[in-house]
Amino acid sequence: MDFSFTPDQEALRDQILEFATRELTEGAIERDRGGVFPHDLWEKCGEMGLQGLPVPESHGGVGLDSLSTAIALEAFGYGCRDGGLAFAIGAHLLACVIPVWRHGSEELKERYLPGLSNGSLIAVNAITEPDSGSDAFAMKTRAVSVEGGFRIDGTKTFASNGPVADLAVVYAATDPDRGFLGGITAFLVEKGTPGFSVGQKFEKMGLRTAPLSELVFDDVFVPDDSVIGGVGGGGPIFNHSMEWERICLPAIHLGTMRHLLDRAVEQARTRKAFGQSIGKNQAISHRIADLKVRLEAARLLTYRSAERLETAGTVGLDASMTKLLVSESLVRSALDVVQIFGGYGYMDEYEVERILRDSIGSTIYSGTSEMQRNIIAGWLGL
Ligand SMILES: Cc1cc2nc3c(=O)[nH]c(=O)nc-3n(C[C@H](O)[C@H](O)[C@H](O)COP(=O)(O)OP(=O)(O)OC[C@H]3O[C@@H](n4cnc5c(N)ncnc54)[C@H](O)[C@@H]3O)c2cc1C
Repeated sequence: MDFSFTPDQEALRDQILEFATRELTEGAIERDRGGVFPHDLWEKCGEMGLQGLPVPESHGGVGLDSLSTAIALEAFGYGCRDGGLAFAIGAHLLACVIPVWRHGSEELKERYLPGLSNGSLIAVNAITEPDSGSDAFAMKTRAVSVEGGFRIDGTKTFASNGPVADLAVVYAATDPDRGFLGGITAFLVEKGTPGFSVGQKFEKMGLRTAPLSELVFDDVFVPDDSVIGGVGGGGPIFNHSMEWERICLPAIHLGTMRHLLDRAVEQARTRKAFGQSIGKNQAISHRIADLKVRLEAARLLTYRSAERLETAGTVGLDASMTKLLVSESLVRSALDVVQIFGGYGYMDEYEVERILRDSIGSTIYSGTSEMQRNIIAGWLGL
């Protein structure tokens, strides 16, 4: 399999890397300390088209294929030092824009895709509930059919972008006895809809610039045309969005891993102890060799999966393997780089402890590592 970049992919990568390095690095330490969501940078990313990379140009996006989307997101992750912002954009694009683009009615696409792609709208994906995370389809949120639409009742939690979102992709049970296949429906709910509110906001270990909250639905009326992809079709729509998220959020992580490698090599060359650079110690240089191997292996799997998103009939196994490998590699590499930096690695001004804190969520969101292993084992007939 040949992943040599086309001239267009190279130009795209360079353009996004240059943009992210220039615009998205300053002030990340302060924003992380204060837990500040950078609304202005979100809009700048929208001007670059990051929130709508694979969306067709006819709907306001950039119109990239899935592999080029992954290449662009890696460049974004490499240049952007605000891990919370990168995650917020990834969650918006992969768990919200994808379902509207791939499953929404023409009317929903025309109404929302341009704004979702150009940074003027922020979306949140809401499936997790206080009593159901991994077992997401055991949700208690109900949508009951009424004249002209549905009434939604329930509480969602851990909703990334929740406090700042204009639009929510919400999953609710319309036929609880049927569960995943036929029992769950995806809805689009606009901010300001009566009964829809932001609940508790959470302080987090990492990704502190990506705000996260509960979302409360108290007898919220939504019209029939707010259904994405048909009543009862929510389960497969959610799984499809997770295939994109489990492949393309890792693409952002590849960029972070590349940044970690650069930082480790520089530190190993310049930091002196016992009269020589610390990289002369095999204990350090071998760790860095492992960073490189992890990055290259993670990239190959991610690119192959990204290509298969559009060429293979089913990519559930690819998505889980990619998500598992890349997230665990990212955490491992971040931990190694903190250790390579010694005491400096523990201090926030060196910015590697933040990457470690940001990375840990990656083994939890979009389905935990344990759930990915369950899915992979299931594909193996276990
Ligand atoms: C930073 C962050 C952002 C998030 N963003 C969103 C978002 O935007 N929208 C949204 O809806 N949700 C979001 N989530 C929620 C996330 O998807 C859930 O936290 C995750 O799916 C796990 O669910 P849970 O927290 O309820 O844990 P649980 O499901 O209660 O799991 C607890 C532990 O048990 C393990 N476990 C559970 N079942 C099994 C099993 N069958 N086999 C083996 N182990 C098992 C899990 O792996 C985990 O280790 C986010 C979470 C985080 C941390």
